[in-house]
Amino acid sequence: MSYPPIKITFLGTGTSSGVPMIGCGCEVCTSTNKKDKRLRSSILVQSATTTLVVDTTPDFRYQMLRADVKHLDAVIFTHPHKDHIAGLDDVRAYNYFSENPMEVYANVLTQEALKRDFYYAFAEKKYPGIPEINLITIDDTPFLVGDILVEPIMVHHLKMPVLGFRFGKFTYITDANGIDDTQKEKIKGSDVIVLNALRKEKHLSHFTLDEAVAMADELKIPQAYFTHISHQLGRHANVNASLPKNRQLAWDKLVLEF
Ligand SMILES: [Zn+2]
Ligand SMILES: [Zn+2]
Ligand SMILES: [Zn+2]
Repeated sequence: MSYPPIKITFLGTGTSSGVPMIGCGCEVCTSTNKKDKRLRSSILVQSATTTLVVDTTPDFRYQMLRADVKHLDAVIFTHPHKDHIAGLDDVRAYNYFSENPMEVYANVLTQEALKRDFYYAFAEKKYPGIPEINLITIDDTPFLVGDILVEPIMVHHLKMPVLGFRFGKFTYITDANGIDDTQKEKIKGSDVIVLNALRKEKHLSHFTLDEAVAMADELKIPQAYFTHISHQLGRHANVNASLPKNRQLAWDKLVLEF
């Protein structure tokens, strides 16, 4: 199957608190390296005709301004945690200019949280100026957004099912600490994988750096980038120097083309 050329932009690569974390004076949070400034984790996926975003973080508005995203066709959600959905209200700007509701792809679990957290957007009687949302239910079945084929990959975030997404030769997985064998098959053959790597110490619901490297190795993916990074992981430059060239931390504004 042919796949359109796509461009991936990392809008954010930080864990839920972002880096720097409010009030923290550690060596990462006080670093002057721009690559140690991480907004909450999200990517932009663009073909010549279609633009979509994976997750709307608390930084969504600023991420769209920073990446100068004038038009957005769809939002695709990974899971309902706040650091992945909090920015949804700001799709209002796209509603205003497109005069259309935003297409929002989410599984049933995420939809429950959206309807709770953004109840006013789903109310019978809506007041003016609220976000207009067209919810589209997804599971692990592939779907098309414009000319971009999206292949969901179900991963585990402790007990919560989370959707990763494969776009042609690129696979994006955030907020996971386990992947079943059937889902691993969907990832194999990717040229690049993004995996979450929170920190070096063990965590309940996120891969550690070593676990993320091991997963990329096991799946034999030529290039891996790590995201959803905590200030506890260490400075970008130091951590990357300790890793092989094909296993590296991502950074905000990193662009990949396929
Ligand atoms: Zn998260
Ligand atoms: Zn810190
Ligand atoms: Zn999460």
